[in-house]
Amino acid sequence: MNFESELKQGRFVVGKCTKCHNTNWPPSEYCSKCFGELSYSPVKEPGIVIEWSSKDGQTFGIVEFEGIRVMGAIQGTPKQGQKAKITNCTFDGSPKFTFSVF
Ligand SMILES: [Zn+2]
Repeated sequence: MNFESELKQGRFVVGKCTKCHNTNWPPSEYCSKCFGELSYSPVKEPGIVIEWSSKDGQTFGIVEFEGIRVMGAIQGTPKQGQKAKITNCTFDGSPKFTFSVF
């Protein structure tokens, strides 16, 4: 399983080390702590909105999933600590996410 190819298909997966269980972010081939092999699995939802800003009617922000913080567009009006789920994700040179808050 590969982070980029999964993301292109709308699945956000994170790599966890099979030896030390470290969650590796940004995605890499081997564990950044012990160089162990990674096992990829879908991130646990929902995430928590950490921060955001709105400009020209568009809201962008940072959402944390399992200790991993990712940036993306946010649909809806976030509040501090609000839950968010991934409504769309893809890879186009870099990871692209859209979240909705609920
Ligand atoms: Zn490790």
